[in-house]
Amino acid sequence: MSHPQDIEITDLFIIGGGINGCGIARDAAGRGLSVALAEMNDLASATSSASTKLFHGGLRYLEYFEFRLVREALIEREVLLKAMPHISWPMRFVLPYHRDMRFESDTPTSKLLGLFMPWMKGRRPAWLIRLGLFLYDHLGGRKILPGTATLELAGAPEGAPLQERFAKAYEYSDCWVEDSRLVVLNARDAAARGARIMTRTKVLSAQFEDGLWRIKTRNSENGEQATHHARMLVNAGGPWVGDIIHSTVHSSSREGIRLVRGSHIVTRRLYDHDKCYFFQGTDGRIIFAIPYENDFTLIGTTDADHPDAAQKPECTPQEQDYLLNFANQYFKRQLTRDDIVWTYSGVRPLYNDGASSATAATRDYTLKVDTSSGGPLLNIFGGKITTYRRLAESALEKIGAQIPVAKGPWTAGVPLPGGDFPVDGVAALTSELRARYPFLTDFWARRLVRAYGTEAAVMLGDAQSAADLGRDFGATLTEKEIAWLMAREFARTAEDVVWRRNKLGLRLGEEQIAVLDGWMAQCRYSASSAAE
Ligand SMILES: Cc1cc2nc3c(=O)[nH]c(=O)nc-3n(C[C@H](O)[C@H](O)[C@H](O)COP(=O)(O)OP(=O)(O)OC[C@H]3O[C@@H](n4cnc5c(N)ncnc54)[C@H](O)[C@@H]3O)c2cc1C
Repeated sequence: MSHPQDIEITDLFIIGGGINGCGIARDAAGRGLSVALAEMNDLASATSSASTKLFHGGLRYLEYFEFRLVREALIEREVLLKAMPHISWPMRFVLPYHRDMRFESDTPTSKLLGLFMPWMKGRRPAWLIRLGLFLYDHLGGRKILPGTATLELAGAPEGAPLQERFAKAYEYSDCWVEDSRLVVLNARDAAARGARIMTRTKVLSAQFEDGLWRIKTRNSENGEQATHHARMLVNAGGPWVGDIIHSTVHSSSREGIRLVRGSHIVTRRLYDHDKCYFFQGTDGRIIFAIPYENDFTLIGTTDADHPDAAQKPECTPQEQDYLLNFANQYFKRQLTRDDIVWTYSGVRPLYNDGASSATAATRDYTLKVDTSSGGPLLNIFGGKITTYRRLAESALEKIGAQIPVAKGPWTAGVPLPGGDFPVDGVAALTSELRARYPFLTDFWARRLVRAYGTEAAVMLGDAQSAADLGRDFGATLTEKEIAWLMAREFARTAEDVVWRRNKLGLRLGEEQIAVLDGWMAQCRYSASSAAE
């Protein structure tokens, strides 16, 4: 099919700038495809900034016999850790044992146990937890992360914040990841490899005509509408994936998704060590309590069916109470709503596998090529932050069956921007940064290394003093850093900065955030006036 000379045709147009859209954009751009990505808000503004932030195999998925997902995710933890040692790090998880811990009643394990050991009445026996942890240790071939250990809690720091009835615990490894930075770094790397990343750009419609997708978009900052042409379309709309299938593309695909909301609460730091807790409830669910941003503790999550992607997810008072009551079954200190300093909530876009409960719905991903609208459309359902890179590889395999893709998988072992240093190198990098910029406090230097890795020094440039970094917006946030975030990391507003590029929103007051927002609006105005 021939097309007018003056239209620009991209190989791949991706709807959605969450982890899946940005991961696919990076992989595809690195294989030489021309790529455009449209995100209607900020990068990671939906589910991908609202996760529990773990690169994990998902210990509890073993109870659902999700061995494929768990194995892939376990192997992937160390691949990812090596590619991004600034934004990801190993963590130990302490699982206190108590004989009242129960399974959710409809897991396959629970059903089997009910059949062979009915006297357990749904309780999780200690030997089964040990078996699960043995599998967790061995399914994924660890090299960096230490294996499972047993802990006597009496007199141990891990036992100090817990009620005395917990005498014994198991300890295992998983990893932390700064989820929204992961998305932004993938987008940056995709852009560096030639992808066009458009934020604040909503896809209004997509039609396949004369052998090409015609995609109409609208920019929410200036109202401009545009038409893009592409050979293949990827729907990585997360919670909106179903709306895009039916209302944007008008496809007749019958695949369904299940929206499951998960909420977290943040309190001031509840204990003095750096390990996480994995708490099991009497309702069969589990929650985590995780050291967060040095001075805080993150507690979550919940599982509640969510009615509609258009409804902004919020941590309801009931969810807050549920998480507080859950944690209060373990901690000596009894938490109340007054302890909550922040909450956030996200919607899991899960593939609808007909599971009875929100907790039981599969966390695995499903990729479906749909040609019912005439052209090739790839719909992405489900997935985990942990499996985003493998999901992108699977997506590229499907894409390769529709349009030519010259190169094979390449992303394993290739660092994200700033991640080109050893997994245990954060302390050395922080010391180097402080030696070169003696005006940085320890907190400040560490924050910059955790955010930018080896690029922290590039961002600071030839600054000799804090004054050289320009205006101080509070909590170590300076004009120099904001300029970097606006120029290189697609940040447009204060919210993008203080809740997604970092978490300084926990330390800045409303007024300080408003001042920053005004300053960034002025920068945007000056930049657009200069461009006219
Ligand atoms: C509470 C909770 C805890 C979790 N914890 C973990 C965890 O610890 N570890 C883990 O591995 N995974 C975890 N997950 C899962 C993980 O967060 C998600 O699977 C992942 O973030 C989904 O990414 P996504 O790119 O598919 O969706 P999203 O991040 O939601 O991205 C979709 C994007 O598409 C955009 N969009 C939609 N429609 C349009 C349109 N018409 N035009 C332009 N843009 C559009 C949206 O604005 C959005 O930004 C958790 C999820 C939740 C909810």
